[in-house]
Amino acid sequence: MPRCPSPSHAIIDLRAIAANLAVVRKRAGDRKVLFAVKADAYGHGAVEVSRYVEKHRYADWLAVATVAEGQELVEAGITLPILKLSPADPWDMDAAITSGMRLTVVDFDTLEAVSKAAVRLGITARIHIAVDSGMGRIGLRPEHLAQLTAAADRTERVEVEGVFTHLPMSDVPEGEEFTRHEIDAFMTAVTQTQTDRGPFPLVHLANSGAILGHDLGKTSMVRAGIVGYGYDPDPHANRADLHPALSWISHVTFVKTINPGDAIGYGRTWTASETTKIATVPVGYADGLSRGLSNKGHVLIGGSVHPIVGRICMDQFMVDLGPDSSVTVGDEVVLIGTQGDEVLTADDMAELLGTISYEITCAISKRVDRRWVGQ
Ligand SMILES: *Cc1c(COP(=O)(O)O)cnc(C)c1O
Repeated sequence: MPRCPSPSHAIIDLRAIAANLAVVRKRAGDRKVLFAVKADAYGHGAVEVSRYVEKHRYADWLAVATVAEGQELVEAGITLPILKLSPADPWDMDAAITSGMRLTVVDFDTLEAVSKAAVRLGITARIHIAVDSGMGRIGLRPEHLAQLTAAADRTERVEVEGVFTHLPMSDVPEGEEFTRHEIDAFMTAVTQTQTDRGPFPLVHLANSGAILGHDLGKTSMVRAGIVGYGYDPDPHANRADLHPALSWISHVTFVKTINPGDAIGYGRTWTASETTKIATVPVGYADGLSRGLSNKGHVLIGGSVHPIVGRICMDQFMVDLGPDSSVTVGDEVVLIGTQGDEVLTADDMAELLGTISYEITCAISKRVDRRWVGQ
């Protein structure tokens, strides 16, 4: 017998991703567009999203966080070049090079590790050198770029394909000046290095924040992530016409009427002050609905906004429908998305939790079926 569908599902509207990447293309001008599909495309399904983006050429490059993520795409037949955004672990190096994935080199040690594996395999490894201009995560300081590049250029079986930095303050207005200085420092190092050895095929620095808000200068590629999925990294800025691609939908499994004084859920943290109807929804923290939304979050049912009441359980949560509700078992519940005139976004959820839209969509667990529409 076929497996039953999960009681909630995420709908990914690929046309929304197309529209969002069209915004990126426009801002990028003649630069190449890399689309970050790490973390299963921020929860949107890396293989399906990558296939769609490759088929229509909405992006020229893809990026992943782990070698396994890159292997998954290669095995699915994706042919766009794939950049692994962080250095590969030594034990993953052979698989990474064999797959054709582009590797990030952060210092002389990583360069040596890549080169040794590439020589042994007899395969030329293509690398992107990471510069740390202020993120403090990976990469070497701008003033050491020329030296590492020269070493890489002399290294057997290594081809320098790109150089990049990552901007930690590009998504907030107060980061404007810092980001401008960072871009200057990085571009100065790149320009000096290029004077010595000729141009890097690819120079890239812009994440979504910089694509939406900064001068992209003499770079040749942008690295879009969240913007492609329809969110501005600064939820309070409205810098482009973006369309959230993911909706999260479930349905009511139970409705009951409770009396004043009746309590709901583990810990009995919510008590009815009047007679009201309570709906139960088969989604919980195991699906990625943060328990932090207990007595805080909202969902859409019957075309209006209703509060989550009581603690969110592992597999279910409860909603106060109000005394006069005509909602019945089977009615649609929208956790993220639109219903009638109402909209709930990952940003709305993120704000209640003190986090960002990225974490909300990434957290929707494997138990939740994905359905892709708009191919
Ligand atoms: C994830 C990632 C991106 C994309 O970031 P967004 O803020 O989602 O646009 C770009 N560059 C690097 C190095 C990343 O790790």
